[in-house]
Amino acid sequence: MKPGQFAYHAPKTVEEAVAMLATVAAHEGRVLAGGQSLVPAMALRLALPAHLVDINGVAGLERLATDAGELAIGACVRHARFERPVVEGPLGRLLAGVVRHIAHYPIRTRGTFCGSLANADPASEWCLVAATLGAKMVAKSVRGTRTIAAADFFQGMMATALEPDELLVEARLPILPPDTHSGFYEFNRRAGDFAIVMALAVYRIEHGVIVDPRVGVGGVEGHPRRIAAAEAALEGRAPAIEAFRAAADAAAKAVEPIDSKPELAGYKRDVTRTAVRRALEAAEKSL
Ligand SMILES: Cc1cc2nc3c(=O)[nH]c(=O)nc-3n(C[C@H](O)[C@H](O)[C@H](O)COP(=O)(O)OP(=O)(O)OC[C@H]3O[C@@H](n4cnc5c(N)ncnc54)[C@H](O)[C@@H]3O)c2cc1C
Repeated sequence: MKPGQFAYHAPKTVEEAVAMLATVAAHEGRVLAGGQSLVPAMALRLALPAHLVDINGVAGLERLATDAGELAIGACVRHARFERPVVEGPLGRLLAGVVRHIAHYPIRTRGTFCGSLANADPASEWCLVAATLGAKMVAKSVRGTRTIAAADFFQGMMATALEPDELLVEARLPILPPDTHSGFYEFNRRAGDFAIVMALAVYRIEHGVIVDPRVGVGGVEGHPRRIAAAEAALEGRAPAIEAFRAAADAAAKAVEPIDSKPELAGYKRDVTRTAVRRALEAAEKSL
């Protein structure tokens, strides 16, 4: 199928882009970033925007830089940029390990980190990373700039705190301390498919026990999120299989799988248990 009719806008600056969005947002206006989710949806007429504001020519949005203890990722930074560590230490390694699970290489050369966050697919790897690490999203509109914490940004399946006239100009991830362990595990049927279930685990060790654990799960609920019960099962315990199993059990109990087939909920809990345990085992071996 072919997309419906739309007007195409190509701003050159962020100011022009947000001014255009202010004009068209109320008339089915949408941002076009990598187009790897929006264009297929338009081709299938699942999305019928009347206006596209293409941000690919906007100056400065390809910025990827460390800044005040954070990695700032501009709106036009493509997935493929992360295939080699973009920053020294655990964060660069974590992102390089996760990115190869996103789609296929041609898609990774166009699709953007921020586009994935704005699209908020429940099985998006970058949404899991952002939710687990506590990313900050910087949104701009003609009304000004605001920063939204990951815990408030993801609101449900394909739903975020962004207003229709807001441009996500950058996402900011905390630079992880050098002694941070991290592990990611994704279960899907074919390489390149969206995850059925995925888990990300991050922690540090002090005096032989786990501190600052973060455990996130994606693909199961409306959006990826941290699982507090799993983190509580790890805090202060030795990084060994007993603690990992306790955290995995806690995660399997805590998640509320959403699925078109309710009978799959038990299956998703089981895969969550395995995914969390494997992410923790990978984290243990990561340094
Ligand atoms: C075959 C295939 C397999 C895929 N597999 C995976 C996968 O395994 N994991 C995964 O995470 N993704 C996967 N994707 C999706 C891909 O990663 C997309 O690139 C990504 O979801 C969206 O990024 P984009 O830059 O292409 O955004 P677009 O498609 O341009 O936009 C997506 C949505 O976000 C909005 N948007 C984009 N950028 C902004 C912004 N800066 N501010 C405000 N709104 C914005 C758009 O208006 C639109 O509503 C797959 C895609 C395909 C085609």
